[in-house]
Amino acid sequence: MSAMGQAGQPASASAIAESVRAGSTSARSVVEAHLAAIDREDPSLHAFLTVLADDARAGADHVDELVSRGEDPGPLAGVPVALKDNLCTRGVPTTCGSRILEGWLPPYDATVVRRLRAAGALIVGKTNLDEFAMGSSTENSAFGPTLNPHDRSRVPGGSSGGSAAAVASGMVPLALGSDTGGSIRQPAAFCGVVGMKPTYGTVSRYGLIAFASSLDQIGPFATSVVDAALLFDVISGHDPHDSTSLDRPGSRLAEANCPDSAQSVEGLRVGLVRELMDGTDDPVAQMLAKAADALSAAGASVEEVSIPELRYALCAYYLIAPAEASSNLARYDGVRYGLRVDAEDLTSMNSATRAAGFGPEVKRRIMLGTYALSAGYYEAYYGKAQRVRTVIADAFAAAYQRLDALVGATAPTTAFSMGAKVEDPLSMYLSDVCTVASNLAGHPAISVPFGTDEAGMPVGVQVLAPALGEAVMLRVASALERASASLPGIPAAGRASTGRASTGDPAPGRAPGQVGEPA
Ligand code: GLN
Repeated sequence: MSAMGQAGQPASASAIAESVRAGSTSARSVVEAHLAAIDREDPSLHAFLTVLADDARAGADHVDELVSRGEDPGPLAGVPVALKDNLCTRGVPTTCGSRILEGWLPPYDATVVRRLRAAGALIVGKTNLDEFAMGSSTENSAFGPTLNPHDRSRVPGGSSGGSAAAVASGMVPLALGSDTGGSIRQPAAFCGVVGMKPTYGTVSRYGLIAFASSLDQIGPFATSVVDAALLFDVISGHDPHDSTSLDRPGSRLAEANCPDSAQSVEGLRVGLVRELMDGTDDPVAQMLAKAADALSAAGASVEEVSIPELRYALCAYYLIAPAEASSNLARYDGVRYGLRVDAEDLTSMNSATRAAGFGPEVKRRIMLGTYALSAGYYEAYYGKAQRVRTVIADAFAAAYQRLDALVGATAPTTAFSMGAKVEDPLSMYLSDVCTVASNLAGHPAISVPFGTDEAGMPVGVQVLAPALGEAVMLRVASALERASASLPGIPAAGRASTGRASTGDPAPGRAPGQVGEPA
């Protein structure tokens, strides 16, 4: 399998960067092929809220000029990247999927955006999301839902559904999302791509519009584990603009995980977590069993473990996240940002603006959070949830004394139908039952595509590791990725039913051809 796509374009991020850096492919031709893919695919997917064609072309020409002058264009030279629309881009609409930010133009770029540009990446657009990243299906966007590229009657997951769909449909090889309770991993699982939530503090949150600041992390979507590592390497590292940023240099994991030197999982101790399997649909449970077998066959020692404390994670999350949100969202008052609905006095203007600007889920979270923080209830709800958070972190710590990594489902089901859960917030919240614990603990976790259900919808297997355990987590993820290639009838990572070529090998860095029509 060559690394070339349909129109002679390299397909994976690693292959694009390698080819552009070597001068074999121009960044301009890469960006044109991907913009054409966006023109072709996005009208029926609605993954993008804004496409930045001119900016991307200008960036590509700059990269090509650096290459022609013999200068280093950076590790992501010429690679098109999409950004979840809660990442600030200077002078470019950043809506957070909300009417309340309509018309607001950020005066600065998020740190991750600056790092991407410095690495030679081309920002091609801003992707759709649940309003303020609150949701699990992207149906809470004020601008209409994104569709799942594998089956347009289903949701892509959320809240980073636009980024997941953009990568799964081949419109971009890489995208960024944010993960507060699973918003990278769950849509990655639903769309059949790799999605990674890094350790809290490894990626700067400066310029990420805050949802729940103690849980929010930015992370990559990619078609392979090595591409996710490549993007993480570029965006990670200390940033003085974020007080929670860890005082560490950026990681260099891509080299360590490149396909030619893939480290095996031989001798690693992996726990299959009962609480991250119980209650999952049959196809998900079946794939988890196969994933465990594959890791054993690859030399890991796999055992089933129980971490009963994880059963409390969802309740704690749905108190802590709304509590922090109710505080963070107080700044949208009709004065400082975006929308203003005029009224006779200040207080009426504040409430008219908020009534018109926020959607129903955001209002629900603000009310839940305000209640949990109010005098008289604070100890019983918020205080107790914080204590549960500590209990969960301690339970993970105990498990990691014996185990190197944990494995479980990313989500209890595959992608559900559009509209199936919009009227029932609790059932929507249950989509996050397998992902929220890593956010509460601040630990890294990744979702890797691993087989499909009987309808051909992708299943994601989640790998969890202790804080700063990204290297071991990616080793396990790579082993699963290799094993998934031999599952019968499974589409390669990142391939979706969008009429693209379907011959492919999902091995790291060798994703199937994705963009460009045959000449
Ligand atoms: N679905 C979860 C929620 O609605 C997680 C969201 C996220 O990670 N941003 O809160």
